[in-house]
Amino acid sequence: MREIKTVGVIGAGTMGNGIAHVLARSGLRVLLCDVEQQFLDRGLETIRKNLGREAEKGKISLDNVDAALRRIEGTLDRKALAEADLVVEAATERFEVKSAIFEGLDGIARPEVILASNTSSISITKLAAVTSRPDRVIGMHFFNPVPVMKLVEVIRGLQTSQETYETVATLAEKLDKTAVEVNDAPGFVSNRVLMPLLNEAMFAVMEGVATADAVDEVFRLGMAHPMGPLTLADFIGLDVCLDIMRVLHEGLGDPKYRPCPLLVRMVDAGWLGRKSGRGFYTY
Ligand code: NAD
Repeated sequence: MREIKTVGVIGAGTMGNGIAHVLARSGLRVLLCDVEQQFLDRGLETIRKNLGREAEKGKISLDNVDAALRRIEGTLDRKALAEADLVVEAATERFEVKSAIFEGLDGIARPEVILASNTSSISITKLAAVTSRPDRVIGMHFFNPVPVMKLVEVIRGLQTSQETYETVATLAEKLDKTAVEVNDAPGFVSNRVLMPLLNEAMFAVMEGVATADAVDEVFRLGMAHPMGPLTLADFIGLDVCLDIMRVLHEGLGDPKYRPCPLLVRMVDAGWLGRKSGRGFYTY
């Protein structure tokens, strides 16, 4: 297994800046790539703020904050990732966007370099197929907020090699995360199991079984969930929940994954949850 020292991260958004943060905090050099300077600036500012907050809580020393920040280089030029030993892609969740990135990276990264995707729902096997190295393509699915959440769902595409899996699982451990091995299938394990729960909670509200508040209280008090399913759906974004339900519905072809009509209507109305100020709750 080759040692990973420099990691390329594509996308400096919510997930990409979190991934860059944990890589740099663990002593790795990071090349963070986005398409516009303003997105890079915003991502780097978020990392600075979040590392600062960790220092305030005594989780990291101020010296280590500075050292971590110095290990991150922002770039608008994807070719700079030629220096990377591994690349994690965390760009927009659209197949056309990701397949173009993987095709491009295949021509830039050294042949032995692993190309990982943080996708929540796109097939790793399909992304691998646009490259000439399908055995070195894998899913590395982090959770939001990345610096806090312990899980990395590591997704093996049909052609992912054992060595690729082991390299990525070892990297996850170096980041102080736990890797869980999953095979490529719609929604992997996390969204395959979580989203139908949220969707069913929405059906319960739509059918007047209980209010959103009551459904959430059942899960908080009865199942010790830190947040009820409708609060969680608002937090994730109702548009994101709908997209994932559609991936499950289309990919698995089973009517049990039918998106709740109330969810569809709310997204049509622009009620996307916390980010739009209104979802199952008002913010
Ligand atoms: P985001 O919109 O916050 O960030 C995406 C970033 O990618 C943007 O800054 C955008 O400019 C950049 N980008 C787009 N095309 C690019 C390209 N060609 N080259 C370089 N950068 C490009 O999105 P996000 O929430 O960070 O999600 C990123 C990925 O992570 C998605 O695949 C998503 O499904 C997955 N994911 C998200 C979450 C979550 O809770 N937000 C959790 C797990 C996985």
